[in-house]
This record gives sequence, C-alpha cells and structure tokens, in this order.
Amino acid sequence: MTSTLPTVEAVPFLDLAAAHAEVAAEVEAGWAEVVGRTAFVGGPQIKAFESEYATWSGIAHCVGVGNGTDAIEMALRALGVGPGDECILPANTFIATAEAVTRSGATPVLVDCLLDTALVDVDAAAAAVTDRTRVVLPVHLYGQTASVEQLRAALPSRVAILEDAAQSQGAQRHGVAAGKLGDIAATSFYPGKNLGAYGDAGAVLTDSDDLAATVALLREHGSPRKYEHTVLGFNSRLDTLQAVVLSAKLRRLDGWNAQRRAAAERYDTLLAGVDGVTGPVVAEGNLPVWHLYVVRVAERDRVLAELHEAKIGAGIHYPTAVHRTEAFAHLGKGSGSFPNAELLADEIISLPMFPNITPAQQERVVSVLAEAVAR
Ligand SMILES: *Cc1c(COP(=O)(O)O)cnc(C)c1O
Repeated sequence: MTSTLPTVEAVPFLDLAAAHAEVAAEVEAGWAEVVGRTAFVGGPQIKAFESEYATWSGIAHCVGVGNGTDAIEMALRALGVGPGDECILPANTFIATAEAVTRSGATPVLVDCLLDTALVDVDAAAAAVTDRTRVVLPVHLYGQTASVEQLRAALPSRVAILEDAAQSQGAQRHGVAAGKLGDIAATSFYPGKNLGAYGDAGAVLTDSDDLAATVALLREHGSPRKYEHTVLGFNSRLDTLQAVVLSAKLRRLDGWNAQRRAAAERYDTLLAGVDGVTGPVVAEGNLPVWHLYVVRVAERDRVLAELHEAKIGAGIHYPTAVHRTEAFAHLGKGSGSFPNAELLADEIISLPMFPNITPAQQERVVSVLAEAVAR
C-alpha cells in the first residue's frame, strides 16, 4: 500500500523574506542613492520617514532614534525623570521597558497585569503611586493597547503616561492611534516588529512640541548646533539606510496589519473547538495589530517542545517576568509577587503570526497544538 500521508511542512514563526520581497526594489533604489551621495548619517530620508510616520499615525511628532530601548530612555529623560523618581510598569514585558527606566536613574516599580488580556492592571498601577511617582509606562503588549484613558482617570495629574508602543504600530483604542493615547510614546522598529527595519531602529512619538524638541536634542549628543552641547545626550539617531527601509514598508503596513487581523480571526475560529487552549482576549474598544498571537496551555513546556518537533516555529513572550530575571533580582520581588504575570510566563505560547501566513499553515499549527494538548 502506498502512503497517502500529506507532506509535513515546517511553519516558520515569522517570514521576513516575504516582506522584503515586496519592498526590495524600493529599498535597493533608496540605498543606492544614499551610497551614491555617501551621506551616511542624517539626510532627507530621515525627515521624510519621520513626517510620513507622524502623518500615518496622526501624531504631531515622530523623532527617529537608534532603537526602541533608547526611545524609552530618551522619552523618560525628556519628561525630566531621573534619580529618586519612580516609574510604574507591568512585570510582564520585554526587559527593555525596565532597563530603560533603570538607565534613566529612576526606580522601576513593577505591577501585575490582567490575566485575560495580559495588559497592565490599572488598579494595581494606581495603588502603586507614591509621592515619588513621575511616570507610568503601559505596554501595548502583543499589539493591543492598554487602557490608557482608564489609567489617566486613576492617576494624579502630575503623573505622566509614557506608552511602550513597540509592539503596536497601527493599533487603535477607541479610534485613537497607539502612541497618541498618553503624553509621549516610544516605539521600536526591530526587524521582527510589525514595522521592522533591517537592523535596529526606533522612534519617540508625541503631540508635544517641547518634548519632541528635547528628544531631538538628546539623540544628537545634546547638541542644538555643531560642537555646542547643552545637555548630556546620546548618540542614538535613526540610521539613514533604515529610514529608507521604513518608508518603503510603512506604505504596506496597513495592508500587512489587515492580513494579520484576518489570520488572527482564522486562529480564533480554528481554536474555538479545541479544549485546553485559552485564546487571546481583546479588550473592548481595541483594534489590535496582532504583533503576536498568544495562547495559554497547561504543561506549556511539553506542548511547546511538541510544536518544535513538528517544525512549528512557536515562541514564548516572555518566559521570565521582569522581577524573576537575574538583572532585576535586586528589586527583591520574589516568586508570588505578581501572580498573573508569573502564571502567564508559565503558560503562554506565541503561535506563528505574520501577514502572509496561509490558512493551511494555520490549520497545521492548530492540529499539532490540539493533539499535543490532548495528550
Ligand atoms: C522590542 C521591544 C522594546 C525594545 O526595542 P528595541 O528596539 O529592541 O530596543 C521595548 N519594549 C517592548 C515591549 C518591545 O517589544
């Protein structure tokens, strides 16, 4: 008897090659121009991208910087944060959010997240406010915005809101773009983000002329004019070659985000009949961009190993809550400090998610997942 088994195909976690294929010609032409002029730092490409991104998101200013982590740190500095200040952030985030707070000189104060959406718990954030609190940093995790307006209502007006919008390019809350919900926002164009460069890049977003001007000063050695330095700054400019890539990709981003939404709906449908898998929950008022599609399962490590064995590129975002990392052990927050963040770290799996993922690929992911969970 001949085998009728279908060929088993690997499903990647993401597909940067497909995105590149769509912009390759534009990137090549743009890069040739930069190289032809040997103008490798600065140039019209930076301002062009900044103004395109600002217009696209409906935010007054986009200040391009070297990466998302610097973007958070410079936004904090622009808000006047420094030693002695406290900044409140969720315990379940990429390490960069906490890192930037510590590097600014301030003290990170971690709070728990909600179990269903994995977004910051507004009540916990409000309860953590002290006389020293200067900033709260909601993280728009997985591509869905935190409830910034609820935070605003629950916080004293002297406390600023800095959005970590690294995973939420194009996301909206009640029709307002991520990055425009708080006082200032930081985003990252790390290659795997919804809008990804071909290396490190990031931006600070704000409607405030003053904050934007301060960040523009900070990114350039605190220098308003050549060899004049008014404040201690950074060397963290947006790279010219990256600006070319970002402009080309920004033109496709709405389409790519729509494809991600369609893929998320297909996952929702496929998973509806699967016991033992808790799918993602979208908060009322949110239009997410599905940077990641994250589910929860028991025996996560075994299930993940089975997905990997079947050549399915699943991941964990993130396996260790900030307070459980060695780098932040000094905060003295032991196991049990943030139960929801810790439970999520033990149960979450990020399924393959990228604009051109096919229904067949998603069916394969869900069938392997369902079998593993049932075992
Ligand atoms: C990617 C990311 C960052 C940091 O961005 P980099 O550009 O890698 O420095 C910060 N916060 C979150 C939530 C991220 O996902």
